[in-house]
Amino acid sequence: MKTAVYPGSFDPLTYGHTHIIQRALPCCDKLILAIIDNPQKKSFFSHTQKLDLYKAYFSKEKKIEILTFSGLLVDFMQKIDASIVIRGLRNTVDFEYEKQMAVMNKKLYPQLETIFFMADPEYDIISSTLIKEILNLHGDISPFVPTEINIALKENLDHKQ
Ligand code: ADP
Repeated sequence: MKTAVYPGSFDPLTYGHTHIIQRALPCCDKLILAIIDNPQKKSFFSHTQKLDLYKAYFSKEKKIEILTFSGLLVDFMQKIDASIVIRGLRNTVDFEYEKQMAVMNKKLYPQLETIFFMADPEYDIISSTLIKEILNLHGDISPFVPTEINIALKENLDHKQ
């Protein structure tokens, strides 16, 4: 049973992420979308909101499971008996950061392998941070995030204002 873990903040989940997920699915038996729960990091969606939303969004895809974790990724990976990490690369900034993380994670957990997917040119300009900036300024983010997520983002924004 090959379990792969796609860790991230997913604040919010974008078409950049969903495209990586669709491409990673044939490489594993089970794919865990692992939402990092870091109370220090200010987040637009709460982790429980992310859990509910993303569980509903991927409900038809039986190979996908949505979990949250806190602490070290390698500890979480060992706990769930997984050794494959999925990450996406958009540019050289991602590359430098991801390279350091992948090498360090392997030092901490030698069985671990990180598999990288190069972002599709259609999606490589999408970042969750930029999406939130556009949203806060009332721009149209519909080309970049799934419809269900866009609706929830707008509801959150209305509550915050
Ligand atoms: P993190 O806080 O861990 O960077 P993100 O949710 O921003 O969490 O990203 C999770 C993973 O998805 C990272 O590997 C990131 O490089 C990748 N990713 C983010 N946006 C895109 C995109 N538009 N295309 C491809 N990969 C992406």
